[in-house]
Amino acid sequence: MIMNRFRLDGRCALVTGASRGIGRAIALGLAECGADVAVHYAGNAEAADQTRRAIEALQRRAVTIAADLFDDAAAATVADAALAGLGRVDVLVLNASVQYRRRWDEGACRDEWQRQWVVNLRSAFELMQLLLPGMIERGWGRVLTIGSVQQHVPHGQMPIYAALKSGLENLARNMARQLAGQGITVNNLSPGIIETDRNAEALSDPDRRQRVRSAVPMNRFGDPTDCVGAALLLCSDAGSYITGADLPVDGGMRLR
Ligand code: NAP
Repeated sequence: MIMNRFRLDGRCALVTGASRGIGRAIALGLAECGADVAVHYAGNAEAADQTRRAIEALQRRAVTIAADLFDDAAAATVADAALAGLGRVDVLVLNASVQYRRRWDEGACRDEWQRQWVVNLRSAFELMQLLLPGMIERGWGRVLTIGSVQQHVPHGQMPIYAALKSGLENLARNMARQLAGQGITVNNLSPGIIETDRNAEALSDPDRRQRVRSAVPMNRFGDPTDCVGAALLLCSDAGSYITGADLPVDGGMRLR
């Protein structure tokens, strides 16, 4: 049965930034398909706990792991805690990110550069370095990076964030090439405008909301659950012949 190829029974997943938004939706989707899940978050323990309880309600194991990925030791802390809590990591979803809105001509932004580069790109590489060896040893693994429609559609207020998302997608392709043949796929999912806490304020003004929505060919914003089907394809045996791909989940927004 083709549907069985989406099953993840016996697999263990780590999802960064799984307390809220897209990460939470993907974590719950993985658990629904049978995976145990390590729920990473930065500081919102209550939200992370809610995700953990929702996963446990699906009869799966779950652990929560707090770490600001800007910290130098964060990747090691997160990887160690996931391995201690679940025993292994077969599926790594690199979802957490930070973003700052600032036009290129709005002045100094070195701190913002630094924070975005470390959280959004360096930590992803370090988590791969730490967790890929176990996947290689077992001959099965899935890495999914979460990019952005901004890889394709420039956003005047987020040039640095967009550049780093393109870098993340490039890293995913590079790693995909190197790991093909070892049972491991590495892919990127690039969401469009998905309604989460992140953009709640930016979309709160009705006029602006209407204007932004009209830039989406499907004329609607996405919901975090819109990302889950694509994520499950790329994290399961159903997608075992797909690697190095960038899968947009954006209502056609990149087609502008
Ligand atoms: P969100 O609702 O803002 O949630 C962010 C998650 O990342 C939370 O779990 C948060 O933990 C965690 N996080 C934030 N800063 C962190 C840090 N310094 N270290 C570690 N974890 C941190 O995000 P989202 O909208 O679901 O976005 C998820 C991913 O999709 C991101 O990579 C984003 O760039 C990408 N994306 C989103 C959209 C969109 O429209 N929403 C569009 C394109 C791409 P706490 O809860 O503890 O704060």
